[in-house]
Amino acid sequence: MSRCLADWAIDHVVLERGEVAHSWRSERWDSLRLLTPNWQSRLPGFGYQGGDPDGYRTLPEVIAFIAGYAKAISAPVRTHTNVTSLRRTEAGYVVRTNDGDWQCRAVVLASGACNIADVPAVAARVPRSVVQLTAQSYRNPRQLAIGGVLVVGASASGTQIAHEIQRSGRPVVLSVGEHIRAPRLYRGKDLEWWMDAAGVLDERYDQVDDIKRARRVPSLQLAGTADRSTLDLNALTALGVTLVGRLAGITEDGKAQFAGSLRNVCALSDLKMARLLDLIDEWARVEGLDGEVPPPERLPPTNVPEAPSLGMNLAAGPIKTIVWATGYRPDYSWLEVPVFDRKGMIVHDGGVVCEPGLYLMGAVFMRRRKSTLIDGAGDDALELSAHLAAYLDGNRARLTA
Ligand SMILES: Cc1cc2nc3c(=O)[nH]c(=O)nc-3n(C[C@H](O)[C@H](O)[C@H](O)COP(=O)(O)OP(=O)(O)OC[C@H]3O[C@@H](n4cnc5c(N)ncnc54)[C@H](O)[C@@H]3O)c2cc1C
Repeated sequence: MSRCLADWAIDHVVLERGEVAHSWRSERWDSLRLLTPNWQSRLPGFGYQGGDPDGYRTLPEVIAFIAGYAKAISAPVRTHTNVTSLRRTEAGYVVRTNDGDWQCRAVVLASGACNIADVPAVAARVPRSVVQLTAQSYRNPRQLAIGGVLVVGASASGTQIAHEIQRSGRPVVLSVGEHIRAPRLYRGKDLEWWMDAAGVLDERYDQVDDIKRARRVPSLQLAGTADRSTLDLNALTALGVTLVGRLAGITEDGKAQFAGSLRNVCALSDLKMARLLDLIDEWARVEGLDGEVPPPERLPPTNVPEAPSLGMNLAAGPIKTIVWATGYRPDYSWLEVPVFDRKGMIVHDGGVVCEPGLYLMGAVFMRRRKSTLIDGAGDDALELSAHLAAYLDGNRARLTA
């Protein structure tokens, strides 16, 4: 967004509470690699120049990439500047920070979609003897006590963390809720390549049937590993991970209760994967790619245990740690503007917030399916910066852009 505002010659400043790429420096586990290939992190005027376009960036590489971009575009970033409140004034907005106030006519809320680990309320019932971490506070298996680990959530974060912990010698029980299975490679190409080429990631927020539902869909079960292997429940079961259903509750005396729907949840996930692959196959056929890539293939169905456990005594059982990988949510506690719906999410139309001069970036499925990815920021910023420029011009006619 900063780069696009500069293109419009709009005087602006970027306020950052930490260092550039703060969330990658402080809120991710050590071994994390992007699940999007190197070629796919395209920012306006900046792309991957190295010799491994199909590889997946390590955490230090992601930090270097984002910091390098800020430097390359000379983004006017004020680091260690925490925004503590944002209020509307007659002329625009006043932004209060730990380092003084700013007056401005427009504000872009780019504070991230994943600031807080979304932990269910039942966590309060976990016995004190069990250590609780989240996908945000988990760093590596050395941090964990010896003993069993319950990982709750089987989307991208949960499966990657379960994989790493199981391989460290601590037996993992994985509680599986709604998730979407996905092969890493399909017909000889990265799944992200297919979704990018077939236009799946460019699907717009105003073209999907149910945008509210689309914004709640969990991340694909993908991981960026050096061997480009598929990380699904079958891979985890083969390693020795025990699957159980969704965590339905915890009793007062510390017994975890798991839903009996594991088989259905996995069947649904297999079905969603098949739908995505059908769509890709159809696109490949129409584009005349069938002769150039291997034929369509399907993974065997998810192996579901005959009688998955429905309960577990957390107070006196083998589980010593729980890692909540149950999703993330944004933190807008500093936003003192009436822009929230009943669930505390910002009301916006493709990133144009309901209050004039206020814009959003990086929210889930904000303008396109890829809005949540690094790769989505460029197209969104291009369009929203044009809207913002028109707003500053007072040119209402162009505001429909
Ligand atoms: C575990 C995980 C893995 C991911 N993997 C991928 C991947 O493989 N590929 C991909 O493309 N995307 C991935 N993403 C999504 C990725 O986070 C986004 O694509 C990208 O980081 C969004 O950038 P952003 O600038 O919108 O948000 P963030 O990266 O969250 O940046 C927001 C910034 O705002 C700052 N901030 C917040 N509040 C304030 C405040 N009050 N005052 C001042 N500063 C503030 C924060 O410190 C932070 O630096 C992943 C996300 C997670 C959580």
